Amino acid sequence: MLTIHTQQGRNIEIVLQSELCDPLNLGEYVRAYCHIHGSDHQRSLSINKTTGWGHCFNAACNATVLVAEWNPTVAKRLIQLYYRGFSSVPSPSYRSQRKQSTVLVSQPVLLHLPKATPKWQQDELAALLSLDEQMRKALIHSQRAQAYLNERGIPLNVALVSGVRYLPPAMINNLEAQKQRAILRRWEERILFPLASPAGKGYIGRSLWHWQPGMDENAHKSLLDQPRRPRRWIKTNPAGWFGVDFDQLSSSIILVEGAFDRLTLLVAGFDAPGVVALVGTAAPIDWFPPHIKSVVLAFDGDLGGQEATSRIEEQLMQAGIHVRLCLPPQDRWGKDWNERWRRLGPESLRPALEAYADLRKLVCS
Ligand SMILES: [Zn+2]
Repeated sequence: MLTIHTQQGRNIEIVLQSELCDPLNLGEYVRAYCHIHGSDHQRSLSINKTTGWGHCFNAACNATVLVAEWNPTVAKRLIQLYYRGFSSVPSPSYRSQRKQSTVLVSQPVLLHLPKATPKWQQDELAALLSLDEQMRKALIHSQRAQAYLNERGIPLNVALVSGVRYLPPAMINNLEAQKQRAILRRWEERILFPLASPAGKGYIGRSLWHWQPGMDENAHKSLLDQPRRPRRWIKTNPAGWFGVDFDQLSSSIILVEGAFDRLTLLVAGFDAPGVVALVGTAAPIDWFPPHIKSVVLAFDGDLGGQEATSRIEEQLMQAGIHVRLCLPPQDRWGKDWNERWRRLGPESLRPALEAYADLRKLVCS
């Protein structure tokens, strides 16, 4: 066990899975006897298996723990910060392991195996990747797709540089293999955005079904949101974030919700490596590469955006990352950055630009 003292004044105990005392698997959580305060009366230590973060419910102990194997990226980051001298403690405090034999017996139940990707999803992704260059050309030649982008305030060059694609029905009809045509049918007439994830590349696609030039975005949204219509957005497996590759991200990034919000920020002058759209994908803390030092959370102004903001802010702070919040103002000009951009112009992005500049100054100073 290694005790890390963060800059925020918290103590985090980094523990190994083998140190957990007689752990019990309870779905999403594992409960264990707390080896930090040495309890053997009840399993007061509760750890989320997905994030690796846990907490001791004994009021006198109140420890925050991180199981290293369940969240190796953050564990590594914290240990690096520790040895870079951010910590106020001169040396790690290792403590002896107890009850190791009991622990080892129950280990297999704790290992959560990644689910295998179904064959059809593997085929779907392979088919889309093989058409990437053709879909790029299709966007350049499709007046309709460009008209849609234009009405969302996105110039063609910004879309192309960001890897945006278009899959017209004719491209699917021209495929020789009947199997490929069937696999890709649900992607026809969609604008595609490339996604990055630790599991590899993917796509998310927005349907243009029955969209007409001049149609209001919210009117098209409600048209698609009715039963038996194509889903507005679909994703491959793996999905991921819409942004540059993880190792190319800036050390300060701004997180937004939607693919069009990201493009809007790029149009307004943000650098591509600094803007990431979650596109409905969670923000697991172990996806943040260790070189990321600060994050602006600029989600939608609705309830969903507010909930995600408080959840992710907590996780990032626990991992020692600086956080600034920048929700769009609660007014009549729209809940997300793209809508506000279309209605208010460049002025609408001033809060985001200021929060981002402010954070970079803080981290660089
Ligand atoms: Zn405890």
